[in-house]
Amino acid sequence: MGQFVLQLSQEKIQQMKTYYEQKLVSVPQGAVFRAKTSGATITAYRSGKVLFQGKSPETEVEKWTAAETGELSYKTVAKKKGVLLPPDDLFSNSHIGTDEAGTGDYFGPITVAAAYVSKENIPLLKKIGVKDSKALTDDAIKRLAAAIIRMNVPNRVLILSNEKYNQLQKQGWSQGKMKGVLHQQAINELVEEIGESQLDGILIDQFCEPAVFKRYIVSESLSLQNNTYFMTKAESYSIAVATGSILARNAFLQEMEKLSEKVGMQLPKGASSMVDETIAKIIAAHGEAYLDACAKVHFANTKKGKRLL
Ligand code: MG
Repeated sequence: MGQFVLQLSQEKIQQMKTYYEQKLVSVPQGAVFRAKTSGATITAYRSGKVLFQGKSPETEVEKWTAAETGELSYKTVAKKKGVLLPPDDLFSNSHIGTDEAGTGDYFGPITVAAAYVSKENIPLLKKIGVKDSKALTDDAIKRLAAAIIRMNVPNRVLILSNEKYNQLQKQGWSQGKMKGVLHQQAINELVEEIGESQLDGILIDQFCEPAVFKRYIVSESLSLQNNTYFMTKAESYSIAVATGSILARNAFLQEMEKLSEKVGMQLPKGASSMVDETIAKIIAAHGEAYLDACAKVHFANTKKGKRLL
């Protein structure tokens, strides 16, 4: 089961309508056409949005994701790059998924979570609303994280504090390396707990080329576990990655609350001008050195905040 959205030209949509001529069904409001194939329901809207839903929409999506649309499906992209793509059945089998949060936020740590979702738990997690954390409100994330923990879904959440982050950054670590090492450590600890016998694979939400990821972890004497796969936007395909994304985001939110309390002011998320204003307030109240304990100080925001003083 999946859902895909493509943004296509009206010309392309007309081509599709002709292609699916024998499979057209009644048109919902605002739509140009709707077609039903054995594996997918395809709805094209006047806005150019085309929605693919159903058992196996990938097959249909593949047909319309040519290079000129600028909207490539993960398989097409992967083939081009020689990426370690998961087998199709991994998403419905027992697997570990990993994701992180906090990397683009000036304040707060980086959090990385690995979650092991057994085949049996997949439908239940779907039912309670587990999906990509980016599509969820903070309240929904807290509620879902609590439910995931109550279900005893095996997981590891690693938190890279700001002090440690800044220290590594000064030693020359890129954020990518920090993430890579955290992902692999979380995976290793989780595999150790659950064992390999009930594990069909490991899926990492891809943030850099797999070859680069390997270089990062090898430099810290770590290596990939058996059957490790990489995929961008993995949280929309894998419930395990979506579970990891929720747990990572939840840990980030919790850490932000603790930090806000410690600093004595509400720390904004992201890296906006509101962040710059908060930096100025923190420096005025506690001095610049204080940022080391609550911020990723190498971000351009530090300079911008200082200019506001
Ligand atoms: Mg991610």
